Amino acid sequence: MIKRLLIANRGEIAVRIIRACRELGIETVAVYSSADKENLHVKLADRAVCIGAPPSAKSYLNADAYITTALATGCDAVHPGVGFLSENAVFAAKVKKAGLIWIGPEAETIELLGDKVQARATASSHGLPVTPGSDGAVSSEKEAVKIAERCGFPVIIKAASGGGGKGMRIVYEAKDLAENLKIASSEAQANFADGTVYIEKYLVNPRHVELQVLGDGKGGVAVLGERDCSMQKNHQKLIEESPSPGVSPEMRKKMCSGAISLFSALKYRGAGTIEFLAAGNEFFFMEVNARVQVEHPVSELVTNSDIIRDQIGVCAGLPMEAAEGVNEINGWAIEARINARSPGKIKKLNIPGGPGVRFDTFVYAGYSVVPFYDSMIAKLIVHDSTRDRAIKRLLRALNELEIEGVPTNIEEQKKILTSPQFLSGNFGTGLYAELFQ
Ligand code: ADP
Repeated sequence: MIKRLLIANRGEIAVRIIRACRELGIETVAVYSSADKENLHVKLADRAVCIGAPPSAKSYLNADAYITTALATGCDAVHPGVGFLSENAVFAAKVKKAGLIWIGPEAETIELLGDKVQARATASSHGLPVTPGSDGAVSSEKEAVKIAERCGFPVIIKAASGGGGKGMRIVYEAKDLAENLKIASSEAQANFADGTVYIEKYLVNPRHVELQVLGDGKGGVAVLGERDCSMQKNHQKLIEESPSPGVSPEMRKKMCSGAISLFSALKYRGAGTIEFLAAGNEFFFMEVNARVQVEHPVSELVTNSDIIRDQIGVCAGLPMEAAEGVNEINGWAIEARINARSPGKIKKLNIPGGPGVRFDTFVYAGYSVVPFYDSMIAKLIVHDSTRDRAIKRLLRALNELEIEGVPTNIEEQKKILTSPQFLSGNFGTGLYAELFQ
């Protein structure tokens, strides 16, 4: 088993990993940028090492700094968390080469899935329906026009290496295609160091449905239910729930068998997510996230599992805790992301509690939110027997939650949760715009 693990990340996910490690008897080494000295993950870890300046490029995106620190502190494993280098095949390979255990799938698997163009081809070859669009990367206007005409406008231009809802442009008419192709490619180059873009049909107001998967690295695959992440603002998730109120048993069955066949063939190791867009009775493969995701707690609550513990375990060579195949779902879980609208000092923090309430964060009263990273400061997750009850519980918990000193999206979350559209369960990715714009 692993003795000491380096967490190549920060904030809430780093805290979550420290907690899992503590329960497993694994020591943790945290890293931090000079802006993050007061972050809870630094305080909770057994040891913490500063790896650079605040901009991510100078700290949290520095693969060599992680490896040097891991070796210098006697670690035998590296957990990449979410975002930053968590889906970087080069980093995964470097970790392995340094003799350290990588908490994630093999670098070769990440390569097959991390690039979205490559992932479409991989999924398609395993019989999964993919969103209509280009077969590979698109570089010329002529090619783009041909594809757009074949699948019909609107289309969406996406970055092959994109993530976090960034690097996407929706195009409604042929005359706007050339210019947007150019902008999308240069934006992709600037943000993801890869200018490769591709085209998909833009589905209007679809549902975003994804499956939580765990693989034992030998072909054994567990599906821990689906998550519905249709409640988004600018293509970024705001509320996630499990199960999905919009997936029929037949659709669920097809999604699960496609996912099991893909992940099993890849001998996938650790936690991963397969994302789909669903419209009517149809669903389309969108991408695989070859890592754990921010919204994993809703799956943990409905399957009574510990995804991070299982992820670390299988990567360390232990048997997978989750049962192979489609796992049983118990009740309903919902997560609301709590975002800071600007940096500043948190003067007061009242954390909600009571039955079925979980609050994952890295902030505390007196902590100053820094401007350099993601705006999410906490996740409020609830579990109850039905969707109705879970929504009521989440509203009750949001009413208990008090954050003073930095403006947040708490009031906006309450508005969403009390809207007739959200309550009906019958909505798509366009609901935020419908409610607020
Ligand atoms: P990222 O990796 O940046 O999160 P995704 O590919 O997961 O990007 O897409 C994020 C969101 O963008 C989706 O949940 C959906 O709302 C929207 N989106 C992406 N592709 C399409 C599409 N072809 N049609 C409609 N919406 C899309």
